[in-house]
Amino acid sequence: MNDISKFFDISPRILELAERCEEKCRPVFERVDEIAAYNEAKVLSSFGRHRISAAHLTGTTGYGYDDLGRDTLDKVFADALDAEDALVRHNFVSGTHALTVALFGVLRTGDTMVAVTGAPYDTLEEVIGIRGEKTGSLKEFGIDYKQVDLTPEGTPDIPAIKEAVKSAKLAHIQRSRGYATRPSLTVEKIGEVIAAIREVSPETIIFVDNCYGEFVEKQEPTAVGADLIVGSLIKNAGGGIAQTGGYIAGRHDLVELCGYRLTSPGIGREAGPSLDQNRSMYLGLFFAPSVTASAVKTAIFASALFDELGFDSTPKFDAPRADIITSIALGTPENLCAFCAGIQSGSPIDAFVTPEPWAMPGYGDPVIMAAGAFTMGASIELSADGPLREPYAVWLQGGLTWGTGKLGVLLAANSIFKDK
Ligand SMILES: *Cc1c(COP(=O)(O)O)cnc(C)c1O
Repeated sequence: MNDISKFFDISPRILELAERCEEKCRPVFERVDEIAAYNEAKVLSSFGRHRISAAHLTGTTGYGYDDLGRDTLDKVFADALDAEDALVRHNFVSGTHALTVALFGVLRTGDTMVAVTGAPYDTLEEVIGIRGEKTGSLKEFGIDYKQVDLTPEGTPDIPAIKEAVKSAKLAHIQRSRGYATRPSLTVEKIGEVIAAIREVSPETIIFVDNCYGEFVEKQEPTAVGADLIVGSLIKNAGGGIAQTGGYIAGRHDLVELCGYRLTSPGIGREAGPSLDQNRSMYLGLFFAPSVTASAVKTAIFASALFDELGFDSTPKFDAPRADIITSIALGTPENLCAFCAGIQSGSPIDAFVTPEPWAMPGYGDPVIMAAGAFTMGASIELSADGPLREPYAVWLQGGLTWGTGKLGVLLAANSIFKDK
């Protein structure tokens, strides 16, 4: 490993520690590789079954009728995500947009939506109508919202969930922790929550925000009974190749409804040209299991290294993972800024830039972010961010390759300790 000091100035102490940590991570990495191999087989076999050829990689323009590549990509994604059907489009501008289309696609005036795993991801607050006014939220359309908070340990409160979902049209579950401190939900745990809901309310649509979770495990929440799962293509499912987009996958009848909301009632999924996006979405899906594995390894290694350096990481390096995120409590604003500066210096794009904290709209404290990505805002690429408040925790995610992810983590550690 010391060879890399030919290219990067990293202290011998960090390099030595890193070598020991990598050794410690090896058995955990084997598990990650095994999951990736399984998911690669799942994806590859689907390409063959659907007879993907060069014709699928080209696109259409205008109305986009009979877009073979687009329509077949839906089927391949459905297989990859353990779902009956999928709607995969570059037209989704973000994960939030795909989540919005899915919620508006299936909810109607008078319905109740219950978030059963605590507060949803920040951007959904305005979609639901918890925050903001006159933005066309679900609330403005007469859709009620209820929330079941997690237990003090950060786990789903099953008795309270059973009580709350009885007449609910939709139950919302969030797999990843987002920027919260609770643990992420494994697919197994999601299955337990779904079974509890089905017991008391079999008709309730079970909706999973699957962002950051795709391909981290062998199964997606659809395999344990979720009716709809939703995610972004500039996170795991796009493999670092898709240039934009998102997906909605699950029950065929519900995916159809989402298609009507994405375009227009009556037109649904039959229109929407793929332009020149098909090839990158196919290639991205092909890469997604192995790229996700690289991000998971980067997260595991960061947990191991920073715990050794005396910080508190979650999850721990050998704990089960349900998403690609690791958070590390860095203790001081200086450490948080130095960490982000280190990640930035190890990015392929904008490595020469030093990130500074700034007052981001909607946040109470200044936030610092490090990202230097080929796709703007892509967090399957190595990135780090955190608010400047106790315990000065950083959220780290991504890493297109394990080798470059590791380098980013080493540079972050080196940046904290270089003046100490
Ligand atoms: C990233 C993310 C979203 C959507 O975020 P976008 O930035 O709109 O893509 C939603 N939920 C969770 C849990 C996420 O991690």
